[in-house]
Amino acid sequence: MAKRDYYEVLGVSKTATLDEIKKAYRKLAIANHPDRNQGDAAAEERFKEATEAYDVLSDEKKRGMYDQFGFAGVDPSAGGHDYSNVYRDFSDIFGGGGFEDIFSSFFGGGGRSQGRGAQRGPEAGASLRYEVEISFKDAVFGTKVEVSYAHQVACDVCGGSGSQGGSGTKVCPTCSGSGQVRRSSGFFAIASTCPTCNGSGQVIENPCASCHGNGLKRKQQKVKVTIPAGVDTGSRVVLRGMGDAGPNGGPSGDLYVYINVREHKFFVRQEYDLFCQVPISITQASLGAEIQVPTIDGQSIKLTIPSGVQHGKMLRVRGRGVTRLNSTDRGDMYIKLMIAVPKRLSSKAKKLMQELSDTLGEDTNPTPVPFTQG
Ligand SMILES: [Zn+2]
Ligand SMILES: [Zn+2]
Repeated sequence: MAKRDYYEVLGVSKTATLDEIKKAYRKLAIANHPDRNQGDAAAEERFKEATEAYDVLSDEKKRGMYDQFGFAGVDPSAGGHDYSNVYRDFSDIFGGGGFEDIFSSFFGGGGRSQGRGAQRGPEAGASLRYEVEISFKDAVFGTKVEVSYAHQVACDVCGGSGSQGGSGTKVCPTCSGSGQVRRSSGFFAIASTCPTCNGSGQVIENPCASCHGNGLKRKQQKVKVTIPAGVDTGSRVVLRGMGDAGPNGGPSGDLYVYINVREHKFFVRQEYDLFCQVPISITQASLGAEIQVPTIDGQSIKLTIPSGVQHGKMLRVRGRGVTRLNSTDRGDMYIKLMIAVPKRLSSKAKKLMQELSDTLGEDTNPTPVPFTQG
């Protein structure tokens, strides 16, 4: 099934405000919620579809990428969504816990405990996704980009333990130690993991005031990312351990930096080779010539055009293409010659052309040849 436009999925306009997007998502998520539609696969699909759309449209950066590049801008099939954004807003939208279990069983990965005083064992932190756009030339030769993003880090006050001054634990007041709560929210009631203790039945006696017992804090981070020569749109660079810190001392997730390469004004790329077209005149084609052609390096090279060259002839310059990943070798540069016929002739040129035509003689009965593209 073809993917539907995210704005269409949420039923909002392209200029919708964040508030309108939130409202539209809330409505759809409640109507299609799996607890209300048990065994209804279509509703489940709609729920997922709406959540994915919300994940993108509620994030200014992702929305910008989507508006500009469509699905390719936010989800070159390899990666998938991290949903960190939806996850952050979930309690905001639904007014407190309860949805988190459903959320993580649907989307995996992205979900994580955020309740106060979590006493579960170590959990792996979420991996995050970031997109960068680089120039065509930077993809050919490699570059460094600075990435600024927010991630969860261990709280500096309590060292990630969530407790103040090493205080002990007590029975969770919300669930009285059972680890489960039942809550009804309009149409449906669900039993879910207690949001206060995350199912452990225990909470920290004196939660750290700085992180509210979470052990984790959001932090803006800047990191220089080395993009190797030879990358293309859809390539990614992985920074191990630069994602969210894991709750309760678990391992950190990774940061995936996805690359989008802008188009070049005349080069197109195929694997590691570069292609461009260069116009030459009919006299250059007939008599042969030497011309200067720009390369991706920013220099120009001398190209010898043999006399009698035909339209569409491809010339190759070795080693002036894209640097191969993890190598210093480069692909080749191909130049396709386009014979340009003058659109307007001076009377003198016209006279000379006529003379040329008379001298060469014209074939008024040409034999067709097989059709070729280009
Ligand atoms: Zn703390
Ligand atoms: Zn509890």
